[in-house]
Amino acid sequence: MAQKKYTKLKLKKFKKAIEEKMSDINGEMNGIRDRLENTAKGNASLAQDSVYSVHMADAGTDSYEREKSFHLMNRETDYFHHLQLALERIDADEFGACMVCGELIPEERMMEVLNATKCVDCKEKEKLNLS
Ligand SMILES: [Zn+2]
Repeated sequence: MAQKKYTKLKLKKFKKAIEEKMSDINGEMNGIRDRLENTAKGNASLAQDSVYSVHMADAGTDSYEREKSFHLMNRETDYFHHLQLALERIDADEFGACMVCGELIPEERMMEVLNATKCVDCKEKEKLNLS
């Protein structure tokens, strides 16, 4: 039996969607990075400026913000990596086929979850097994 796969045309469409998503994430990550740097710079200038004193409360907020940013950054990096793998699957001609049952994952789902590797059925079964 021939392996189920999407046509080249469809793959091209997926590839474009993935690449767009990746550039979105890149932009977001740059934004987070800027915010992190600004927080750091802000602290430095505050410390140098004798008019202001760094209150404990401010420092606390900063570290909370920073932690949140790092967390977000990790998540975005993770997602980015998964999208990279999805691109590799397109190149390897494996994109869109369920890893478990080998069936083609419906196009709407693939567009929604670009890095999906399992069909909804198998994903559901997996959840049942876990719980
Ligand atoms: Zn499946």
